[in-house]
Amino acid sequence: MYDEKSMREDKGILTGLLALMMAAGLAAVTAVLYLLVTNEHLFVRIATIVLLTLVAASVIAMAAALVSVLVLYSGRGNTEAAGRLVIMTLNKMLVPAFAFGKLIGLSRERIQRAYAGINNRVVFAGKQRFKPEDVLVLLPHCIQYSGCKHRITGDIYNCAQCGRCTVADIVKLGRGTGVNIKMVPGGTLARKIIKETRPKAVVAVACENDLCSGIRDTGLLPVIGILNERPHGPCRDTRVDVGKVASAVKFFTDGRY
Ligand code: SF4
Repeated sequence: MYDEKSMREDKGILTGLLALMMAAGLAAVTAVLYLLVTNEHLFVRIATIVLLTLVAASVIAMAAALVSVLVLYSGRGNTEAAGRLVIMTLNKMLVPAFAFGKLIGLSRERIQRAYAGINNRVVFAGKQRFKPEDVLVLLPHCIQYSGCKHRITGDIYNCAQCGRCTVADIVKLGRGTGVNIKMVPGGTLARKIIKETRPKAVVAVACENDLCSGIRDTGLLPVIGILNERPHGPCRDTRVDVGKVASAVKFFTDGRY
């Protein structure tokens, strides 16, 4: 399930971005401090103190997240607590991270992939196990073969398992494990289904953008994100490595993958 090379890359991207943002934050602290000592207007001084507090708090949060990424990837110490801190900080820092990423030639998509990767690492550091019926597998609609006549968004088991798309294997996985599987056309419906079915753990298959926003929206719910493959471009006849979905399900139900 783990791909060592991309895990190392995810770690490098996130630590690099956090370090870059910290450096920018420290430069901002210096500039604000300069404003504070050189300006005598009361209003400006109050504004600079507020600004200084905010920027200093962000720098401290980023430093803590940076250390936590290192703890998480070392596998030593309290990796669960470190993971929670990393995700909490990254959830707040993603938008500036996109802007800083752009400056150094990192695409939004690559940062989102790193975020999903580190989120998975955080989930794998957890020890909670769940009953199969409490695990929800969420699939994007684009994974169904575009020429298929079967209506499977309401019930995936309406699939005739002809084998033209990966849904056939996912159905087998559902029957074999007893996990709840839903296919959703988009993020809004995914959130609605999570609200209605109240799963205790989620395996989500999606593109970088949907995975990233989905993981951010689910708060403390453990979500393992699996990227879909797009051999025909976005949103059409996409695929997923069913072995990865099976490993994620196994992790939630048995603690192994
Ligand atoms: S495997 Fe199922 S969903 Fe995919 S094309 Fe065949 S019948 Fe349709």
